[in-house]
Amino acid sequence: MTDQLLICAPMRIEARAIRQGLRGSAEVVHTGYGTTRAAQRAEELKAASFGQIAIMGVGAGLTTDLSPGDLVVGTEAGLVTCASAPLLAGELRRAGLPARTGRVTTVDHLVRRSERAALAADGTLLADMESAPLAAAADGRPVAVIRAVSDTPHHPLAGIVSGGLAALRSLRAAAPVAERWAAACGTRQVLLAGPRSFCAGVERAIEIVERVLERQGEPVYVRKQIVHNTRVVGDLESRGAVFVDELDQVPDGATVVFSAHGVSPMVREDAARRGLAVIDATCPLVSKVHAEARRFAADGYTVALIGHAGHEEVEGTLGEAPDSTVLVQTAADVAALRPRDGERVAYLMQTTLSVDEAAEVSGALRERFPAVRAPGSDDICYATTNRQVAVRAVAADSDLVLVAGSKNSSNSVRLVETCERAGTPAHLIDGASDIQLDWLAGVSTIGLTAGASAPPAVVDEIIAALSGLGEVSVSERVTTTESIRFGLPKEVRQ
Ligand code: SF4
Repeated sequence: MTDQLLICAPMRIEARAIRQGLRGSAEVVHTGYGTTRAAQRAEELKAASFGQIAIMGVGAGLTTDLSPGDLVVGTEAGLVTCASAPLLAGELRRAGLPARTGRVTTVDHLVRRSERAALAADGTLLADMESAPLAAAADGRPVAVIRAVSDTPHHPLAGIVSGGLAALRSLRAAAPVAERWAAACGTRQVLLAGPRSFCAGVERAIEIVERVLERQGEPVYVRKQIVHNTRVVGDLESRGAVFVDELDQVPDGATVVFSAHGVSPMVREDAARRGLAVIDATCPLVSKVHAEARRFAADGYTVALIGHAGHEEVEGTLGEAPDSTVLVQTAADVAALRPRDGERVAYLMQTTLSVDEAAEVSGALRERFPAVRAPGSDDICYATTNRQVAVRAVAADSDLVLVAGSKNSSNSVRLVETCERAGTPAHLIDGASDIQLDWLAGVSTIGLTAGASAPPAVVDEIIAALSGLGEVSVSERVTTTESIRFGLPKEVRQ
């Protein structure tokens, strides 16, 4: 069997458009119009020699938000699941094409205007006359369905000439992306890092917002992102949370939740002055650093805060003792430090730093100020440390590491850096659709982890999407287990 891509196009005109777009040697077969021909052709093709199959053609858009030329990447076709659809749709979007994933249904006639709403009622996006029977030809091999919208409820068959042309243009442009999808197909091993995903502080912060929503109903105002993850924020927004940058966006007298990253005393004072009811979701491990900053400053120490400029947690900690605290990000910052008294210097850390990077800066502080005071216990929190140790263990045996997490998540970014420092390429992704297909070419072992703010479901979603490219065997390397839980603030306790 070859590993060549086979592209099935029901109509000759579709096959021609696809061939025009191809850059490699994929085989395009014109399979014929309608369900009967598609079923016959699928039976013949089952025995053919190919590695992957892509079913490409035009179709009827069922929802009013689709336009001619939009691409629908099928998540299923008949009884066949197209698990890699999010990967393919993400790659199509990065190629500048309007693509989304959704259900594709196969019907045995041209869809009439009056039928569209009923067909769309279960969430189906597009109807065609061939995908389901053709998908059976995959017979266990990776399968993709890419359909370009030719007509929609707003652009019915009367506009099919212009709509059809737009659809054919999109098919042509999608052809090289289908080739990239095929090149990324293959059997793989996924090494899961354990622990990964939510930490106790993030779970607590999310639960606080959920409980306030339950008790008070929407809207619930939250200052800054409750945790740095677009999925979590999007989910809570859809349930009525309103994320604001500053308190002046919160109406007088309303309830406001402070995020897990903490706030400076100025923000608390502002909330009190405004008469806002505050529920504090600051992680207790961040509050611990705040308390240390206050204590060192009260004892006359200059506090060197090792952290990243602009991060919300750092801003909150700096605000605890602004006249006594100096941010140091590098050993060069330590060299430039001018404390009031070199004998009274202490250091603290942002909780989500790289253990190695922070050790370099604290080492520079100890060298320059031998009497420097350290925090009573590590400021880099257990969850950050554990996830770095765990990802290092899988990176050693992986060709590539995928880190689920958002770009503004400090601990997730540090996981990528940890892998890179270990010599393994790593990428930060919010979800499966962020995986670039060329990352996967030639990669047989993928390490997979998630930052402390990334939901566990994203990891499942990534594994499911990868399994659409070929068989995936999953094993987990657990370097430690976590049992830490934090209590909820009194305002939301039962
Ligand atoms: S990463 Fe650490 S400091 Fe941040 S919320 Fe989680 S446990 Fe708390």
